[in-house]
Amino acid sequence: MKSVFGTVLPPNIDMKLRTYKKWVTPSVERLTIRTERNVAKLGVMLVGWGGNNGTTFTAGIIANKHGLSWPTRNGIQSANWFGSITQASTVRLGSNSEDGDDVYVPLKSLLPMVDPNNIVVDGWDISGLNLADSMERARVLEPVLQQQLKSHMMKYKPRPSIYDQTFIAANQADRANNVIDGTKTNQVKRVMEDISDFRKSSGVDRVIVLWMANTERFCDVIEGVHDTANNLKNAIAADHPEISPSTLFAYAAIKMNCIYINGSPQNTFVPGILDLAEKEGVFIAGDDLKSGQTKLKSVLVDFLIGAGIKPVSIVSYNHLGNNDGKNLSAPEQFRSKEISKSNVVDDVVSSNNILYKPGEKPDHCVVIKYVPYVGDSKRAMDEYTSEIMCGGINTIVVHNTCEDSLLATPIILDLIVLAELCTRIQFKRKEDDSTWYSNFHPVLTILSYLCKSPLVPKGTPVVNALFKQKACIENVMRACLGLTPDSNMLLEHKVP
Ligand code: NAD
Repeated sequence: MKSVFGTVLPPNIDMKLRTYKKWVTPSVERLTIRTERNVAKLGVMLVGWGGNNGTTFTAGIIANKHGLSWPTRNGIQSANWFGSITQASTVRLGSNSEDGDDVYVPLKSLLPMVDPNNIVVDGWDISGLNLADSMERARVLEPVLQQQLKSHMMKYKPRPSIYDQTFIAANQADRANNVIDGTKTNQVKRVMEDISDFRKSSGVDRVIVLWMANTERFCDVIEGVHDTANNLKNAIAADHPEISPSTLFAYAAIKMNCIYINGSPQNTFVPGILDLAEKEGVFIAGDDLKSGQTKLKSVLVDFLIGAGIKPVSIVSYNHLGNNDGKNLSAPEQFRSKEISKSNVVDDVVSSNNILYKPGEKPDHCVVIKYVPYVGDSKRAMDEYTSEIMCGGINTIVVHNTCEDSLLATPIILDLIVLAELCTRIQFKRKEDDSTWYSNFHPVLTILSYLCKSPLVPKGTPVVNALFKQKACIENVMRACLGLTPDSNMLLEHKVP
């Protein structure tokens, strides 16, 4: 077993955990970590810019940048980034040596990070409405705030996008009036030209492309088509019908040296894209934003199983009335979401072989219904049934009403801010005499906290448990500062 950041045990102690016949050999590997302090001028290109999340994200940047406030029935409300770990969460640094009190600082103060006010936004959408009109269509923000934002948002018009009716629901056809025609080669070329044009016109140093468009159906991963970067290249040239628009966007972004993040559940990252990202050394991250129901699930199930309680049935109902819900009302697109939502408890279940036999899992059912009236106000109802001591049953029922896009938008911001930070962190093994530092692996697993179905490199464990994921982000940042991970032992208060 390796502990990269050190251990309190002296090395080479072998300890026999007799019952489980496991041997633990602590070992230490020392790393030098360096972080570039100059923050890039960052541009973000959203695919699906005119949607609820795309418009709310853009509006959020403008409203915060201009310090907008607006009257509500409860008084004056000001713009903020509540729900963003980079902008609104704090980290425990340690205990104050004088009074022993915990000292907390904003997470964003640990390392230099992009200021959201300086992010330049652009993007594509199959719907050609300008962002002011699409913000109104989204019915997310208060009308008074929309009025204040209108003159800014009107200036933005999404670039035409790649539309393939076989990948998103047929019910989206009526908004597809802004599309790139031609072959897949032409479409990729056009997206690459758009990125280049945005770079030039905005003067940004780095561009992140983030898929915030509708959920696509899963593509059928075909050998010889999707399996390697080269086969994918040839399949695009041959206009193969089973290459999704999102995979074409990922391909174009990586070729343009742009980080590509998948905010939706579909399998954009076919093996050929992973291969390409590794070959080009470009970061990719996904899949699907972890916003409401799944976030709570990854906390609650971790708590139950960690407490030695055995969840045996988890049933999740959702209904929502926004365009995302409309798209997900089609069976193939719903299936993508169902897959993304269903694996979220797997790592926690398999961590406890006292409660679960090998291969045993709780029943897990996910239902999503489209109810137009509720608009962006998503309702999620979950029932967790667990076995407790001596045949007892414990049932927890949770009802959550949330404004979907206002929960998702800060997560989009965090993905972007943290992905940019990752480009500036580099590692070298202490004993390595060369001057060469490596970057993070191209698959940015450190962003798992923000993703419902975290993408990991082959052979790497998937972590869904939320607090482990958050601790990963905080502890990596502490390591960049030369601080030890927060062990939560608080020995300073326990040892006389
Ligand atoms: P939305 O329907 O309001 O917006 C999606 C936008 O994408 C639309 O404007 C649509 O015209 C556009 N679009 C569709 N196909 C496109 C293409 N090929 N190229 C460019 N644009 C295209 O949906 P939303 O509520 O903004 O959610 C966006 C995505 O985020 C969905 O896939 C959803 O499942 C995912 N997501 C949302 C949340 C959340 O809002 N809480 C959480 C997790 C994941």
